[in-house]
Amino acid sequence: MRLKDKVAIITGAASGIGKKIAETYAREGAKVVIADLNQDQADAAAKEIIAQNGQAMGIKMDVTNESEVENGVAVVIKKFGDIDILVSNAGIQVINPIDKFLFSDWKRLLAIHLDGAFLTTRACIKSMYSSGHGGSIIYMGSTHSKVASPLKCAYVTAKHGLLGLCRVVAKEGAAHNVRANVICPGFVRTPLVEKQIPEQAKELGISEDDVIHKVMLKDTVDGEFTTTQDVADVAVFFASFDSNALTGQSLLCSHGWVME
Ligand code: NAD
Repeated sequence: MRLKDKVAIITGAASGIGKKIAETYAREGAKVVIADLNQDQADAAAKEIIAQNGQAMGIKMDVTNESEVENGVAVVIKKFGDIDILVSNAGIQVINPIDKFLFSDWKRLLAIHLDGAFLTTRACIKSMYSSGHGGSIIYMGSTHSKVASPLKCAYVTAKHGLLGLCRVVAKEGAAHNVRANVICPGFVRTPLVEKQIPEQAKELGISEDDVIHKVMLKDTVDGEFTTTQDVADVAVFFASFDSNALTGQSLLCSHGWVME
């Protein structure tokens, strides 16, 4: 068990990639916190883990809300102890060309991805510093942290921004043994992606099948989606790597869509 009794908060963990990371961390022995918008859905995901003999709790946390983040982290510390791992994963997608992109969508998306990453980092890093144990902060980036695609101005901007935040946290956190890294997955078939397949088909005037094969997977080495388990395995690697040798980094996990 590579994460035995580590306290791990995973945001956006009631669905998709975050949910799989929570399940995988629990199997590695972590005490996992499912932090998401809806308490019932967070509790349901935690119950599934507990039913498999894992340690988990659900918490309602809108990552854009400063007091919900601060209070939520305080509740976790009271129940499970100081925070060892934060996975800042909550996210949304909005598909629209820039000339039609609503300012309200731009602000909402940046708030969830960037304000959320900042607020959860600030709340958790205080606990990592004061415990004296340090910790690991993992941001859910994307291939869109490295390259751009049309129709995704806010998303690409936010995902590039996370690289900057990660590097600052790596520099500031080093003295306290806090590491920060970014995972950059290719397309993963979660609700976030299922929603954008018909949206992209409409906007680009092509079939949904063409969106999958000629847009999403066109530059992969094998035409395959990345899986939630692939991303969760990288998240275990980052969380369990126990020295500052691996900090301030971003790791692409995209079937070779982007190579660097
Ligand atoms: P998903 O829609 O399955 O899950 C996202 C979760 O985030 C949901 O449970 C949702 O309720 C939660 N969430 C949204 N706004 C929130 C808020 N304000 N506060 C707290 N929780 C909130 O999506 P997913 O595909 O699992 O995406 C998870 C992360 O992975 C996102 O950051 C996304 O950008 C990133 N990502 C996804 C893909 C992909 O292809 N699916 C690829 C690269 C990166």
